Amino acid sequence: MIDTFKEAIDLTARALDEFDQSHWIIAFSGGKDSTAVLKIFSNAVLQVSRFSGIIDVIYCDTGVENPLLDSYVKKTLFDFSTEARSTGLPFNVKILTAPVQDRFFVKVIGRGYPPPTNSFRWCTKNLRIKPVSNFISNAAIGDAIVAIGLRRSESIQRSRSIKKAGDDYWQFQNEAGRKYKVFLPIINFDISDVWGTISSIKRPVSIDTEKLKLLYYGASGECPMLRSPTSPPCSSGRFGCWTCTVVRKDHSALKLIEAGYRELLPYLNFRNWLSQIRNDPERRWPQRRNGKHGLGPFTIAARSEILKELRRLEGMTEEHILWASEYEYIHMLWENDIQTENDLLNGKNTIAS
Ligand code: SF4
Repeated sequence: MIDTFKEAIDLTARALDEFDQSHWIIAFSGGKDSTAVLKIFSNAVLQVSRFSGIIDVIYCDTGVENPLLDSYVKKTLFDFSTEARSTGLPFNVKILTAPVQDRFFVKVIGRGYPPPTNSFRWCTKNLRIKPVSNFISNAAIGDAIVAIGLRRSESIQRSRSIKKAGDDYWQFQNEAGRKYKVFLPIINFDISDVWGTISSIKRPVSIDTEKLKLLYYGASGECPMLRSPTSPPCSSGRFGCWTCTVVRKDHSALKLIEAGYRELLPYLNFRNWLSQIRNDPERRWPQRRNGKHGLGPFTIAARSEILKELRRLEGMTEEHILWASEYEYIHMLWENDIQTENDLLNGKNTIAS
């Protein structure tokens, strides 16, 4: 195992040396795989004497991340940034967010989107993939290389998709017509290599390995930050949004609550309630926005009920979940929808017309 992570550090050092003026981007989710990648890079860069490129560490803040993981990641990135500055390492931390119109509760409470399912999974693209891909496509105007913690052994599906994309440490991807390189330093790691790397490599000291292990209690994967073909669907025990209704049961949250993180319970209850009301015809327009037959968006009454419950959750958790800009945007969307809803419920209108 020592050989495995030393090989990965050497491989990464050679890559940094070869592309020593490039714009490197490390996609960091705070999970185990991207943590292993960050540790490998932090050590590899020390072996490269003439590196003059940029290394950005990007994290996508969906606004609805599991609160335990979110505060862990933000603290880690803050401390990592301080450590990098004080030790002269060339890392910049960038926290990305989706624009207000794409945020989770703007979609649900403002536009009336039902919470996501596997067949209507509108969230991953809006909340994670688009902000990351916009960042990458801007960087790719120059010479961008994106490093990600993909592993062949994560799943059969992952293994197949990696094979299809080239089955190597290097792959290519397109973002808005711009081609960029993808570097996969841990492609051949198994799970014990990942944890071994995290535990054995001390630098950067700002990563709290014990805390990360605790947070992984019950989680087996992560919601992807980069587009397919190499992104797997959400697994049932994975890190992601506390609002996630794509999984039938949030096993990760349940395990953490069992392990003593009782502060997650109000979030889980809200998520379960959202999932329960999702298909209630009384709470949905009788027609879709495109005019087709079938359950449409949440009614304005249902949206205001969800807003009220969200405010209650904020009171219970003493956390600000809805941003002021999101609240304003929601009200603007309601104004647009009130007349449409009245017409629709009075049988005067079809939305498509
Ligand atoms: S964790 Fe769930 S809700 Fe969040 S982006 Fe992924 S699939 Fe969507």
